[in-house]
Amino acid sequence: MVDYKKGLHKIGDCTYAYLQPDGSWGWSNAGFVSDGSNSILVDTLFDLKLTREMLDEISQKVKGAEKIDTLVITHANGDHVYGNELVKGAEIIASKACAEEMTETPPQMLAEMMKAAPTLGDIGRYFTHCFSEFNFDGITLTFPTNTFEGRMDLTVGSKEVNLIEVGPCHTKGDVIVFVPYDRTVFAGDMLFIGGTPIMWIGPVKNWIQACDLMLDMEADIFVPGHGPITDKKGVDSIKAYWHYIEAEARKRYDDGMNAEDAAFDIDLGPYGSWGEKERIVINVAALFKEFKGDDIPLNAVELFGLMARMA
Ligand SMILES: [Zn+2]
Repeated sequence: MVDYKKGLHKIGDCTYAYLQPDGSWGWSNAGFVSDGSNSILVDTLFDLKLTREMLDEISQKVKGAEKIDTLVITHANGDHVYGNELVKGAEIIASKACAEEMTETPPQMLAEMMKAAPTLGDIGRYFTHCFSEFNFDGITLTFPTNTFEGRMDLTVGSKEVNLIEVGPCHTKGDVIVFVPYDRTVFAGDMLFIGGTPIMWIGPVKNWIQACDLMLDMEADIFVPGHGPITDKKGVDSIKAYWHYIEAEARKRYDDGMNAEDAAFDIDLGPYGSWGEKERIVINVAALFKEFKGDDIPLNAVELFGLMARMA
């Protein structure tokens, strides 16, 4: 298995992973597929400096990769899209739902939150702890030029690359990217390895279905959105997490507990050793919303407050 070190790693004949330890808040991974003349980048990074570093390393290490033809976005979170403007001239592809969701959290909003953080008490401290190493100033959010629903098949030279929409789930329009030739899946944030996954949208059954889909694929290498490269055992661990958390949340919901108390009450068992375990508050809030059948979006600021308390 590939060392979990920052930078570009060749993982197949035509595929690469760009990894950013430690995979906690904002430290996302990206992917690259190239046949020496055509290329696809999967996701950019959280700010311009990090994205520029990645693009420089790709063009130095991969022959013919000075110009990227296509940028595929796995989902709308800033740590996967804020660097888009630097991939000059590329066609940018995302699911339709992802493109729509990208308008909801512009980088200016994070820049303002960071500036206000010192006056915001616990939540400000937690926010600083999560995001102080990134620079959200001066980013021009750059939107997809082409969208799809369900599935889209691309080629890099003679090699097929499949984009498969598995959301809504982590976000509204999650997509995984399969490179059959190298038996590799770029899973975006449908996989967090070593850290706790976050379900902003749900339903949880979509996450479990996406895991089953990945387990059935003729693939051996799974590049998560955060954390080290994994195999089907990593996919299994995420599926098991959701089965466990769903059942624990359901018991408490049926007992009439509220989401906040349930999140603090759940014994995480084997998952207590995963990073950012306080994300349980988001996951339980999303599950309770699902159990109730209500449509009100989660309140991210309130949830950051609860995570600050738990952390
Ligand atoms: Zn992410």
